Parts: sequence; C-alpha cells; structure tokens
Amino acid sequence: MRTFDKDYEYLLGNLVPQHRLSADRRRQINDAIANGDLPTIRLVSILALEDLCETEYFDRKRSHDENGHVVLTYVRNNGSYQIRLILDSEEWRDLRRSPPVAERKTTAAVEAPPIPETPLQIDTTINILPDLIRSFSIDDHRESTLHRLDSVLRLMPSWFRFAWGRLILVEGRLEDREARGEFVVTKPEREMLENAIYQGCRRGGETTVLDLGAARAAGVGVPESHAFESAGEEDVRLAVTPIFTLGDFWGILEVWVTEKENGSLLDARVDIASGLIEQIIENAVRLENLTSIDKLTQIYNRTFYDKQVRIEMERATRSGTKLSLLVLDIDDFKMINDTMGHRKGDEALALVADLIKGNLRKIDIPFRYGGEEFVILLPGTAEMEAIHTAERLRVVIGEFDQFSDEQGTAHGITVSIGAAVFPDHARTEEELFARADAALYMAKRKGKNRVEFYRQ
Ligand code: GH3
Ligand code: MG
Ligand code: MG
Repeated sequence: MRTFDKDYEYLLGNLVPQHRLSADRRRQINDAIANGDLPTIRLVSILALEDLCETEYFDRKRSHDENGHVVLTYVRNNGSYQIRLILDSEEWRDLRRSPPVAERKTTAAVEAPPIPETPLQIDTTINILPDLIRSFSIDDHRESTLHRLDSVLRLMPSWFRFAWGRLILVEGRLEDREARGEFVVTKPEREMLENAIYQGCRRGGETTVLDLGAARAAGVGVPESHAFESAGEEDVRLAVTPIFTLGDFWGILEVWVTEKENGSLLDARVDIASGLIEQIIENAVRLENLTSIDKLTQIYNRTFYDKQVRIEMERATRSGTKLSLLVLDIDDFKMINDTMGHRKGDEALALVADLIKGNLRKIDIPFRYGGEEFVILLPGTAEMEAIHTAERLRVVIGEFDQFSDEQGTAHGITVSIGAAVFPDHARTEEELFARADAALYMAKRKGKNRVEFYRQ
C-alpha cells in the first residue's frame, strides 16, 4: 500500500502538468497530498487526469476490466506517452460515488467567451507577435527604446483601431530620429509641436480631439498618405495627447480616427495608448539610470562613458567638429582617506562631482570613470576652449573651502587634469583616452594641481 501511495504522489507531483489545471483543482491536489489520505489522493489524481482529457492534453482515454481490476489508460502523442492507473473494481465504484465526483458533475457550465465579431486574422497575429515580444524586452539601449515605441505604434491599428498614429518626441530626449514609415518616431518639427502643445497641454494635459479642418487651421501636421484620405476627410478626427513621464514633458502622441467615435471610448483608448508609451519611456529612463548612474556621485558611470564616447566620436566625425576629453584625478586622495576616514573620502568624491557638474556647459558630460578619477566629454570643443574649461574646473575645486573633517577643520582638495582632442590626437576611443591619460600623468609628474594637454 505504501508504494502505491507514493506512486500517486509522484503522479501528481511530477507527471501531471499542474499549470494546465484550474486553481481549484491545484488546491485540492495540494490539500490531498498534505492530508495524506489515500482515497482522496486517488480521487484527485483521477479528476486531474480527467481534466487533462477535457483540455486535450491527453488525446484519449481507455478503460477496461482486467481480472477484477479497472485499468484506466490516458494516452498522449498518439500513444508515445501513456499513464495507466490500476484500481480494484470495488475501489473504482467507491471513487465514482464519492462526493467530489458528484460535485464536479453538477458544477454550473462555464459560459463560453463570445466570439469576436471580427476575429484577428492569424497572419496579422503572427506579424504582430514579434513586435509585441520586442515591446516587452529589457535593454537599456536607446535604440531599443525606440524599437519598443515603434512596436507599440505599429500595434495601434489593430489594438486601438487608430487609423494612423505618430509620436513626436522633444528633441534630444531620445536620439534624433528620422521618420520610419507609417508609424514614426520623428524629431519634432517645432511649429507642429508648439501647436499641438497648445491644443493638448494647455488644457490640463487632457486628450484633445480636433477635427481635421481645425487641425489644419491650427497648423498641426497632417499625415501625408493614409487610409483616412480615402475614407473621406469629414470622418477623420485627430486626437492629440501629451506624453509626460516622471514629471517631464516628452512630446505628444497624435492619433487619427476614421469613424464617428464615441467620445469617452476614444478617450479611454487614447489614454491607454499614451499610458503604454509613457510606461515604456519611464522604464527606459529608470533602467538607464540604474545601469548608467554612479550611486555615490550621481553622475554617469564608466559603462555609460564607454557607450557615449562612441556616440560623440561618431557625431564629431559626421559634423566635422572636435571632441575634447578631460581626465581628472584627485590629488593625494589616499591622504584624505587615511587621515579623515573612508566616509569623508566618499564625501569628497561627491563634492568634486558636484563642482564638476555645476561648472560645465549643458552639452558637456561628466562621468565617474573609477575610484577618484573622472572623465569629461566636451563636444564641439577644440584645444583652446578645452584648456579654459579644464582650468576653470581646477580653480573652482581648488578654491572650494567648505570641505572639513569631523573636527570642523577645513581641507582643500586639488585635482590634476589631462586633456586630448579628437580627431587631432587620436583616431580611436582607446587612443583618445590613452592620450589624455598620458597628459594627466605629466600633470602629476610636474607637481599636481595643474592642467596638461597631450603633446606628441
Ligand atoms: P595621486 O595624487 O597620485 O593621484 O595620489 P592618490 O593618493 O590620489 O592616488 P592613488 O591612486 O594612490 O589613490 C587613490 C585612492 O582612492 C585609493 C583608494 O582607496 C581610493 N578610493 C577609490 N575609490 C574610492 C571610493 O569610492 N571611496 C573612497 N573613500 N576612496 C576610494
Ligand atoms: Mg589621485
Ligand atoms: Mg587615481
């Protein structure tokens, strides 16, 4: 009897795919195993197997008598997989009479879900699925965020029944983008954005539905080629909704509807669509912060530098401009740690990061490269201007007099800075860093608290 008992538990625990069963059935199984009452375990085993027949997990079931026993065979994959239960006839009769079986038979029939009027075509579904999968993927790459947004825009006709949709993002938030087909992420056309903001945001961030004539009169961009044109313009309306993420204005979503819409339903659909977009952007921002920001100093980390330096070098190459790199290292930082303690050392790092951040142009990007070393990318900046910036940073940090130890005694912090320029001094990012680092080494050798430029 013991081995029999174990077999049923094995059956329930390992052979029955529980995820295919209802929550009620799974609960019964767990209860039966916990109580260890054999007749109940047998009963729920059979009920579970019967359920699996109904859901067509098993292709068929056979039962036959064999020497005073009932043999139940559940068959899957054309017989390549079978589960057989052998019960004595007496037992089988008892089981069939026991209350849960009877209960099960009187369970009210579940209503079948209504068949949608226009079921999604299977090929449409197959086309949409890859987009859907991509729209849930995790990747902090800007490009992949654009892919995700693109995917959602592509899904809009089938999910939301929008005839056309367009997301216009504030320049610079995500990389500038060219139009990409019907559902596009574009860089903003200033006038259009301003009009749309006027129409949408000034009314408290609500979705605004405009008719086409009004949209044209307001100068809101009109999509050039689309289904709505053949549908007759009088049926076309434009809904404009602002996209806000983490308190920032990111842009607007324009969608066009070709039918006479029930206002509140349209609002709900636009709300969900913009919510989806806002969530994607928010996730991207959070993920990017998580992977790119140094916790201690709250500036970008080395991982992000490795990505960004490539982008900036490409940009400089494309536009024929210069890109300067500063490598900044705190002088005698070991002393700060040793005499004031590690916590004060951390404070000094955060302070230096703040001073760097506060004394750069908007387009310059500082990073904590590691330990007490920072790098700063200065786009569109050649040697003269880079020297000025580096000198300014050196002086501002050196003159700061509010950093003090636990006893309240003020201590000065000084830094040394090395600089190099792309493409003047280097062709690759490794070379650029090595040149600036060599200049930093010179600054240290010449007595610290100074700026050195790379010299061949
Ligand atoms: P130099 O003027 O030549 O740059 O000398 P230094 O003492 O600044 O340079 P060194 O590279 O010898 O020492 C850097 C120290 O920075 C060693 C390490 O313990 C400390 N350090 C690195 N990361 C952190 C950190 O996150 N917090 C603190 N408190 N100290 C750190
Ligand atoms: Mg140092
Ligand atoms: Mg160092």
